[in-house]
Parts: sequence; structure tokens; C-alpha cells
Amino acid sequence: MEQLAIHGGKPVRDKKIFYGRQWINEDDIAAVADALRSDLITTGPRAVKVEKELCEYTGASYATMCANGTAALHLAAMAAGVGPGDEVITTALTFAASANCALYCGARPVFADIDPETYNIDPEMIEKCITPRTKAVVAVDFAGCSIDHRAIRDICDRHGLVFIEDAAHAIGTKDGGKGVGSIADMTCFSFHPVKTVTSGEGGAVLTNDSRYHHLLQTLRTHGIEHDDEYLVDGPHEGPWYYEQQYLGYNYRITDFQCALLSSQLRRIDQFIARRKEIVEKYNEVFGSMPQFKLQKELPGTDSVHHLYILQLDPEHISCSRAEFFAAMSAENVQCQIHYVPVYWFPYYRGLGYEKGLCPECEKVYSNIISIPLYPLLTDSDVRDVIHAVTKIAEYYRR
Ligand SMILES: *Cc1c(COP(=O)(O)O)cnc(C)c1O
Repeated sequence: MEQLAIHGGKPVRDKKIFYGRQWINEDDIAAVADALRSDLITTGPRAVKVEKELCEYTGASYATMCANGTAALHLAAMAAGVGPGDEVITTALTFAASANCALYCGARPVFADIDPETYNIDPEMIEKCITPRTKAVVAVDFAGCSIDHRAIRDICDRHGLVFIEDAAHAIGTKDGGKGVGSIADMTCFSFHPVKTVTSGEGGAVLTNDSRYHHLLQTLRTHGIEHDDEYLVDGPHEGPWYYEQQYLGYNYRITDFQCALLSSQLRRIDQFIARRKEIVEKYNEVFGSMPQFKLQKELPGTDSVHHLYILQLDPEHISCSRAEFFAAMSAENVQCQIHYVPVYWFPYYRGLGYEKGLCPECEKVYSNIISIPLYPLLTDSDVRDVIHAVTKIAEYYRR
């Protein structure tokens, strides 16, 4: 058996690789430079252009670009009318922003447990969390794997809830042939550098509803209204006149970031094809190893993996997740854990949430590890990752 690097053996590679990273090329750089030479550099024509491109790509009717994915979620929650006294049902196996958007609006996040096979919010658990105060559901396509849109749509319709999708991981994912972005009432994307396509920082809210869309565009810029047809204070003095109608925010994005995203979207098919290729290579090897369980995808869905997650099965592997993580690091393959259950954080405990709330989520969390997945990984990088994982998993096999 090969000696593990953590025990003094030779690492599988000399140069460290990380779990995710962007892919920027010369076209991207030229697009940004071109945008910087124009008169308008904040939200302008390139934002409008990329909003249209996002609609074309996903099948949604409208898109609003904004500062980041967190701002997108906040805008969606505001447009949904989430406010003090309301409850918003979400998952705990996510980045904190999925729940924080409820808190930003003065509402309370309610954590529904996950399905232990898909790691996504369990529709039956959503149903159990509904009270007369429930206003919206924020469902996350965890790691890019499609949520059960049909079941969640049905629950939201029966209870009059707004269906918000946190698709920060899931641009390109499809369910029943429909693109994520065109299915929920509002869908939020993030264009952070580790996500499938990037604008540096950036986000978007997609919707098919023109009223939500108008509200999202207004809330993005302080809640200020310019259009004559929407002004409430009657005839105005001149073209400079505008009205603040809501308490919105400055969640604008620059036009040079939008230029970067447009350029990235031209290569999204290539990015996704490479992600899928790598996922297939990983599945081929890890799918048959008893040491691991893999995330399941729902039938009828076509998921673009943002993360590749191994779940250690303690019955067949004797090391802890922390030991596995450290052993991978020593082999120069830097993994990550997605995510610490949101309500475990001190801030949430201060609000009265307690450990033990979502047992399936906690069980999955304690055994999962995300291994590198991004399109720039070479075949030799992928072989190194597989080598490191199998080396460690065989060493600790039981
Ligand atoms: C990245 C991410 C966000 C937030 O996006 P930012 O652009 O970083 O603000 C929200 N939810 C999930 C699930 C994410 O992964």
C-alpha cells in the first residue's frame, strides 16, 4: 500500500490544487477593457445586454443583474413582500445568504430538513414547516443538483407562498427540459468566481412575472422610479424628476462586470461540458467504492455540478472526515466542506436556533467533503485527484 503524504509519503502532486476557480481568457479581458473605454461604466447597456442573454439561455422572461448573489436573494425576498413577522422556509445545508435574506427583511428563516439522498430540501419537510406566517420558500439547488420543482411548486400554490430558487450553484441545470431560472417565481444566480460563470462579483434575479421584474429593477436602485407611467405624485416639473417609492438599496453592478459575464456566457456550454466530463470520470471510480456515497439526482433532471461531493460511509472507512480532509491537503489536493449547517453559527444560535434541528442535514454534513471540480482542471489534475482519493480511501478501508 502507498504511504500517505500525511504520514511522510510522497504527495500525489507537488503543486496544490483548490476545489474551485474561475476560467478567464483573453476574450474576457478584452471585453472588460472595451467596456472600460466607454462613457458609461456603471449599470448600463451591457447590463441590459447580459440580462437578455441570461433570459435566452435559461428561458426566463426577465432578468435583473445586481451586485452579487446575496443582493439577488435580498431583492427577491423584498419583491416577494417578505417582511417583519413573516417566516421563510429554507435549507440549512447552504451558504448563509440563503437564510440571511429573510433576516434582512425582518422575517424569520425556518429550516426544513434535507432529503438524505439528494441533499436538497425535502418537500415533505417544507410542508411540515408551514404556518400561517409562512411567506416564501427559498430552495437551493445544492451543488447544482436540481430541486424537486414540481413538488415545491405544488406546495407553494396550495399555500399561497412565493417560490424563490437560490440557484447560485445551478446555472445550466434543467428539470423536465426547462432551464433553471424559468421555473420558480424568482430565481437567483451568483457570479462569484467559484461559480459556473463569473463577473468577479455579481448576481441576477430571473422571473417570468413582469410585476416582480419591475419591482426588482426599482429596488436595485434605492427604490427610485423614473418612468412617467409609474410615478405616483401626478404631473411633474421636468425630466430630472424621480420618486423614491420604496426603501431599496444600491445593488447595482458595473457595466464592465456585465461585459465579463457576457463573454463568459459565450463559453458556458464548454464550461459545462468539461464539468460533466470530470464528474463522469469521478463517478466511474468513486461510484463503485463502498467507502463513499454520492449525491443522487432526481429522474428527469439534468444537473450541472458546481461541486463534487463525496460522502464518507463510516461503515466502510475508518478515518474521520477531518482526517480525510487533512490527508487530502497533504497530498496537495485542497478540498472544502459545503456547508456547516447555517443554524449552527453563533449568530443563529443567538436568535434561538439549536443544534439538532435538522438531523438529516447534520448527518450528511458530518461526512461530506467537496473535491476539486472546475473546467480548467486538466486530465492529469483529475488523475491526481482520483489518485489521492483512492490512496486515502484504500488505506482507511474497513
Ligand atoms: C455563492 C452563494 C450565494 C451568494 O452569492 P454571492 O455572489 O457570493 O453573494 C448564495 N447562495 C449560495 C447557495 C451560494 O453558493
